Amino acid sequence: MLALVTGASKGIGRAITLELAKNGFDVAINYNRSENDALSLRDEVLKLGVNAEIFKADVSVQEEAAKMFADVKASPFGGTVSVLVNNAGITRDTLLMRMKPDDWLSVINTNLNAAFYCTQLAVKDMAKARYGRIISISSVVGLIGNAGQCNYSASKAGIIGFTKSVAREYAGRGITANAIAPGFIDTSMTDILKPEVKAEILKSIPAGRIGDAEEVARAVAFFASEKSSYITGQVLAVDGGMTMV
Ligand code: NAP
Repeated sequence: MLALVTGASKGIGRAITLELAKNGFDVAINYNRSENDALSLRDEVLKLGVNAEIFKADVSVQEEAAKMFADVKASPFGGTVSVLVNNAGITRDTLLMRMKPDDWLSVINTNLNAAFYCTQLAVKDMAKARYGRIISISSVVGLIGNAGQCNYSASKAGIIGFTKSVAREYAGRGITANAIAPGFIDTSMTDILKPEVKAEILKSIPAGRIGDAEEVARAVAFFASEKSSYITGQVLAVDGGMTMV
């Protein structure tokens, strides 16, 4: 079975790709800017004995997402994408009053519109196969909001509404759609935060520590498997107890 992970070159997407490969999936590795990271990930995946190829695309641009799906289909091990992981994401943090339209639009385009483009492209074949798994990476801030992230939290809350609607539309055709809401995970996205900001966030995590990308990846692997066949439209927080909603 083939899984496509968007934004797979780094962080959580990288960990998801490796976890899916360990679970026997062939993987299509999407990246945009980090080609060397994508290539090294492909090498790591190939050592696990499954197929892997890299696909450059800015998934926030519909035409690039469509070309990526066509390229995946035409690749030697390609065919139907059975598992789509909408993971690509960016932040452009600032307070509402300072936020420029471009800060808003670039985050919505990458975090939300890309999930729409990729999901629409994936479900065509999934519906024909009467099987599919769509997993989209939301965030705890999509559930509870965060000062300085009104663009990001709107995109992540949008992922949740989108996921639930797709789940309703496709539940009868063997396709599940679920979202993961990670809390504070150790990646380049959170590396840039100042030590005092990190210390403040840590106070709000009952587990008392930052999460690892692998801890998110294992939850994704469950939703990607046949074991989760009767679970759809759900949001699973992987956040060390941060939200408990
Ligand atoms: P990261 O380390 O910054 O990695 C982001 C990944 O997204 C990179 O591989 C990047 O690829 C890719 N990407 C960005 N824009 C893209 C585009 N237009 N097209 C294709 N790929 C694109 O971030 P991360 O922490 O792993 O985040 C992964 C996901 O988890 C995001 O959706 C993020 O919002 C979510 N999340 C993260 C946390 C956290 O604490 N880290 C918490 C909640 C949710 P290139 O470098 O190749 O461009």
